[in-house]
Amino acid sequence: MNYISTRGQAPALDFEQVLLTGLAADGGLYVPQHLPVFSREDIAAMAAMDYPELAQTIIAPFVGDCIPAADLRQLLRDTYADFRHDAVAPLVQIAANRWVLELFHGPTLAFKDFALQLLGRLLDYVLERRHQKVVILGATSGDTGSAAIEGCKRCRNIDIFILHPHRRVSDVQRRQMTTVVGDNIHNLAIQGNFDDCQAMVKASFNGRAFLPGDRRLVAVNSINWARIMAQIVYYFYAAVALGAPARSVAFSVPTGNFGDIFAGYLAQQMGLPVARLVIATNRNDVLHRVLRTGTYARQALVHSLSPSMDITVSSNFERLLFDLYDRDGAAVAGLMRRFEHGEIAFSEAAMQRLRGLFSSHCVSDEATCAQIASTWNDCEYLLDPHSAIGVQAALEADIDAAVPVIALATAHPAKFPDAVARAGLQRAVDLPPHLHDLFQRTERFEVLPNELSAVQGFIAQHCTA
Ligand SMILES: *Cc1c(COP(=O)(O)O)cnc(C)c1O
Repeated sequence: MNYISTRGQAPALDFEQVLLTGLAADGGLYVPQHLPVFSREDIAAMAAMDYPELAQTIIAPFVGDCIPAADLRQLLRDTYADFRHDAVAPLVQIAANRWVLELFHGPTLAFKDFALQLLGRLLDYVLERRHQKVVILGATSGDTGSAAIEGCKRCRNIDIFILHPHRRVSDVQRRQMTTVVGDNIHNLAIQGNFDDCQAMVKASFNGRAFLPGDRRLVAVNSINWARIMAQIVYYFYAAVALGAPARSVAFSVPTGNFGDIFAGYLAQQMGLPVARLVIATNRNDVLHRVLRTGTYARQALVHSLSPSMDITVSSNFERLLFDLYDRDGAAVAGLMRRFEHGEIAFSEAAMQRLRGLFSSHCVSDEATCAQIASTWNDCEYLLDPHSAIGVQAALEADIDAAVPVIALATAHPAKFPDAVARAGLQRAVDLPPHLHDLFQRTERFEVLPNELSAVQGFIAQHCTA
């Protein structure tokens, strides 16, 4: 399987190369040259598979001959053995023909574990074979950092440095990063805000001379193709559990960077009968405005009760644009170049395709709290604020009652106790057993000034792996 850039000017790569590469050299994102397509019979046969087996079926064509089948099978078994539910991604019914897909049974209680637990293992596997060591560098305002750290903690060939804004992430989120023990794990609390952290990461990818030896720098944000790939699996898993391929289903997806819902789009392109994909956003509704107006325009960041979706630009949207423009790299490059300097309008044909597949809804903090309360009152099921946005958007999307609607539950409510309190539920939200002593564990992090040289100097001195 080969991967090509959405801007059409970078060399095609195989799976191993794409795993180790972030942005393409032309500034684009890598996508598969061709998608594997599953027939109705193939999909019917998936009903008999457990999660790791299904993951093998979906992922193997993307990996191609880069990893032997037996090794891939073992990697996938190990990855999902750490999830704390036998079903890995269980479905829970919350109303007639309305379901929640629980994606928070991984080690850090958010759906990002599905991809990052696998990414760490895939990276370590290929690095061992290449006798190479890498530095992972990322910035986080919440869930990505802890999921990446948990995913890399046993990796022998990876040093991971995660920047977070000092005193500006929640206690649970910070402790989930800073209490993980490992010499290759480095938490840096930066005396600045999240944008400062991200700017330093970006600058470091653009100028890598500070790295010791011949180390590569690897990105773990959702521009990394392997993250998207891992997320395709649970769309098949849920749809098949509810009757695909005989029945079509719809998905409602709490959306920030467009990585998760893009995986749902790929599942549909690969043969899964998906009737509709609902883009559920908080007040940072850049994509909702695209669907409404046909224009893509930056706006100022608003802080919401669903911080993992507080985002002004959805980087993975470029991957969809590539398809909407008939995989014309030059057209996408032109659009993105103009977007750097202001807003852009999409063609009528592109908008028609987009609206044919996707709906979008923007959910305020008030509506988020109201949905947490009403779901609790209706069926004693507790949603986290991100998942509540998915459930609310699914309601507003007005989908035929005969079509099962699956809202993705992207985080465990115990990660966001403040939102649960704001919803008026007088209820303590307990952390699951494996995290019950989180607040007694020792934290390890370094506070650094908001200066690139300080961060890069620290990285150069602390590579251990
Ligand atoms: C990252 C995240 C999202 C948004 O996912 P994208 O792939 O960025 O669209 C939604 N909910 C939670 C809890 C997250 O951590």
